[in-house]
Amino acid sequence: MKTLTLEQELNPWEAQAARFDFAAQKLNLDEGLWKILRYPAREIIVHIPVSMDDGRLEVFTGFRVQHSIARGPAKGGVRYSPDVNLDEVRALASWMTWKCAVVNIPFGGAKGGIICDPKKLTLGELEKLTRRYTAELIEFIGPEKDVPAPDMGTNEQTMAWMMDTFSMHMRQTVTAVVTGKPINIGGSRGRREATGRGVMINCDEALRKFGMDRERTKVIVQGFGNVGSNAAKLMSDAGYKIIGIAEYNGGLYNAKGIDIDALLEFRDRNNKNGIVGFTGAEAADPKELMITECDILIPAATENVITSQNAANIKAKIICEGANGPTTAAADDILADKKVFVIPDILANAGGVTASYFEWVQDRQGYFWKESAVNEQLEFILKESFEDVVHFSETHNVNNRIAAYMLAISRVAHTIKLRGIYA
Ligand code: NAD
Repeated sequence: MKTLTLEQELNPWEAQAARFDFAAQKLNLDEGLWKILRYPAREIIVHIPVSMDDGRLEVFTGFRVQHSIARGPAKGGVRYSPDVNLDEVRALASWMTWKCAVVNIPFGGAKGGIICDPKKLTLGELEKLTRRYTAELIEFIGPEKDVPAPDMGTNEQTMAWMMDTFSMHMRQTVTAVVTGKPINIGGSRGRREATGRGVMINCDEALRKFGMDRERTKVIVQGFGNVGSNAAKLMSDAGYKIIGIAEYNGGLYNAKGIDIDALLEFRDRNNKNGIVGFTGAEAADPKELMITECDILIPAATENVITSQNAANIKAKIICEGANGPTTAAADDILADKKVFVIPDILANAGGVTASYFEWVQDRQGYFWKESAVNEQLEFILKESFEDVVHFSETHNVNNRIAAYMLAISRVAHTIKLRGIYA
């Protein structure tokens, strides 16, 4: 793979492009298709005025990038964070295209974001920001065009406001315009836990491959938000021992296993301090937790947390990427030399978009499934996808990440060939 400078290594777009180029080359991809798929199809920048609670007018910058609509409507989350930038959103949009193709669901890829710190905004300000962002994108989103969902810093409430704003413009209720909504306004049972559940299903498959069992498997999770906390809860209930949790402001370690139910209760009471101060485990340095002895490491927070700087010190046997882009391309090579089994983001966290697909289907049908049906279908799709990726990796002699990219790129390229180029 191309050698990158440290600055390039930490740029998610470069990280995505390096893997894409390598996989495309391995596939012997047609040069024209290569050019089409390397760059997003559409990039939208909006400047969003919001009247703040103190009477000031503030202007926020937002993005929506649609990487591909070859296989269906664009699909992807909306991120609220001070670190959002166009290159990050581009990378995340491309990853969505590859992710939807890996699990073989009929969506393209998109991502959105607003540069803001949601922790510093009031509920009222967040609502105004979300509604105006949605209004600015009104002609670009829709059930058949582009379907947003929650991501870092956004949640079910954000999706409810987006759905309502879109519906007010259309003069009719359009539930299928976003996924990850509250259940009573068209959300799907099982969606909230789906990304975490998908992480567990992937870990289960890896254990099966290596003849390991849940009860003797020690897990460290980075990020205790939607993905991390649900993965920790489901895995702990299933018998895995969660020995460490790392958050941005502190970490926890307990060699005997952390009581996740007690921690969840503590976090919900602890307001903005999250997991810090929980007495059921020792306080630990979150950076040290990444390189602490364990069987499975689950980065479920953000990008660039496994880099050329710390990859050599990682002791986990398996890494299951709950977050998007947690591992840089340079770190991939180091992990491969150490024979760490990496379940790449575009497979590991695909449970979320798969359940979003079920939500979109249910909204369009007006018929809602039982939670057991959602979980059963999710498990079926993810197990099959895990098998596809591992099989591709073994037959093409590449690591799991490149195998997942190759599988995805070949599926999207095939669709474009069939559709032809409209000119
Ligand atoms: P979230 O905002 O609910 O949770 C993220 C958590 O990570 C927060 O608790 C935050 O404090 C913590 N965090 C942030 N930076 C950190 C750092 N440097 N070290 C330790 N902890 C840190 O977000 P989420 O929805 O759980 O998303 C997490 C990741 O998973 C993102 O990369 C997102 O793109 C990806 N993802 C989310 C979904 C989904 O369904 N929510 C689906 C697929 C992928």
